Amino acid sequence: MVTEFVAAAKKLEGELIAQRRDFHRHPELGYQEVRTSAIVANQLSDLGIEVQTGVGKTGVVGLLGDERPGPTVLLRFDMDALPIQEENDIEYVSSNAGVMHACGHDGHTAIGLAVARMMVQQRDRLQGTLKFVFQPAEEGGCGAEAMIADGALRDPRPDYAFGLHLWNERPFGWVGATEGDMMAGVCGWECVVSGDGGHAAVPHRARDPIVAAAQIVVAMQTVVARNVPPMEAVVVSVTQIHGGDKDNVIPGEVRLSGTLRYFRNTDCERSKDRMTQIAENVASAMECRADVSFGSVYRPVANNADAALLVRELAGRVPGVTVVADDERTAVSEDFGEFTAEIPGCFFFVGSANGERGLDFPHHHPRFDFDEHSLTVGAVLMASVAADYVLPD
Ligand SMILES: [Zn+2]
Ligand SMILES: [Zn+2]
Repeated sequence: MVTEFVAAAKKLEGELIAQRRDFHRHPELGYQEVRTSAIVANQLSDLGIEVQTGVGKTGVVGLLGDERPGPTVLLRFDMDALPIQEENDIEYVSSNAGVMHACGHDGHTAIGLAVARMMVQQRDRLQGTLKFVFQPAEEGGCGAEAMIADGALRDPRPDYAFGLHLWNERPFGWVGATEGDMMAGVCGWECVVSGDGGHAAVPHRARDPIVAAAQIVVAMQTVVARNVPPMEAVVVSVTQIHGGDKDNVIPGEVRLSGTLRYFRNTDCERSKDRMTQIAENVASAMECRADVSFGSVYRPVANNADAALLVRELAGRVPGVTVVADDERTAVSEDFGEFTAEIPGCFFFVGSANGERGLDFPHHHPRFDFDEHSLTVGAVLMASVAADYVLPD
């Protein structure tokens, strides 16, 4: 099937790139993907795919097949952009001030539509069902959870789930699909350190939350160094410190917040316990008080071994792919983990950087852009993976 999809994708390439550029020009933040999801829903329904809109607010689900029995395969593509002002000098630059497709989800959505187009061409031979899931709010908005809560995994329940990410950490030609934990789980946290403010020149009559907060930041680094098994990976990053607004005033309160990344639930629980104990007790030693709270959680992306192997086998047959890796792991998170927690499947990376053309800025950078040849690789590979389950040889 790979060869057939290569031929089909060649015909679709111009359209695929134009579609990606259109999405790039009109980026929308999480749960505001109104234009994007309308285009997706219209194109799917023009293809004769049964469409459900409003799944997880702006999410779209398309169902193809089910005339002949066979497995149900979920293919997920995320649609949201980021609150970043684009700094690229390109013809398809964002026309929405302060909003940018800086993660490549414009490419994912365009790939999803191309895959739908290619699979519709095979409609008469389908044995099973394809569930196209176009997801909102991947960037911290829990879009996967919202779609699942709205029934994305019911009627029919998928047997397998696949997703992809264009990956600027690796060059075009590289594809990675790792068995087991591939991307970290994430849990946001906040710590409010309360003291008692006062005159900066009379510190002995205040209880200074700044000094306490500074020591909490340093002490929290020992969670990774001393509380997590050395062969496992956890990240505790403090990314915000807010406190005080005048040189001669000791403030009453400091707010810290950041991110906790993990691969094992036991490490997550242990880290949360230790972060809380450290913050509370260091604050108490400094005559202050700390209240630690943890926010929304994305679970780790854990790939099924057989599904990851299938992706790697098929990737090796896609023209343009020169390296197929089985060992890529990252502490970056993805809410595709909400799908792999329920359904066996695989999330894979498609190398998309091209250093010679200056297309190698990291994800979430105001100059992020990628080699558009990777769109075809992603579409052919995703279609081939789906076909392996629902198209007889
Ligand atoms: Zn991102
Ligand atoms: Zn992303």
